[in-house]
Amino acid sequence: MERTLCIIKPDAVKKSVQGSIIQMLLDAGFKIRAMKLIQLSKAQAQKFYEVHKERPFYNDLVEYMTSGPVIPIALEKDNAVPDYRELIGATDPAEAKEGTVRKKYAASKAENAVHGSDSVENGVIEVGFFFNDSELV
Ligand code: ADP
Ligand code: MG
Repeated sequence: MERTLCIIKPDAVKKSVQGSIIQMLLDAGFKIRAMKLIQLSKAQAQKFYEVHKERPFYNDLVEYMTSGPVIPIALEKDNAVPDYRELIGATDPAEAKEGTVRKKYAASKAENAVHGSDSVENGVIEVGFFFNDSELV
């Protein structure tokens, strides 16, 4: 079964909408295989977003992702990667479809409530970034 990584980002945790977001994931048929609440270090956030390090928003992204606790969640479902991207909506909430997580809860293109893996291969890598095999149930 396919896996993807969700991270409920600092803005959503600060607004106390993490429960509503988790319910949306469950209602959409995703199984939670692992979940934790953590404060990312600067080094962890830099490493996680390494693919974006040449982008102009990289430093702001690292600062934002370390600005408060986050909730990484390993999700499992048939077609988990594309189905989860559909559920969260576009990166910019202004472009996200009605009923998506980002349309409901994202404040801006930068502070956009949740992360989602962009491919099956990256889903495996990103789940492994936060969870080892013994933590995946
Ligand atoms: P997604 O999270 O939808 O896969 P990207 O991988 O392109 O989007 O970007 C990673 C994260 O970087 C986004 O979720 C958002 O928090 C931030 N980001 C992306 N583009 C911008 C931008 N133009 N300005 C500020 N922050 C951005
Ligand atoms: Mg991405």
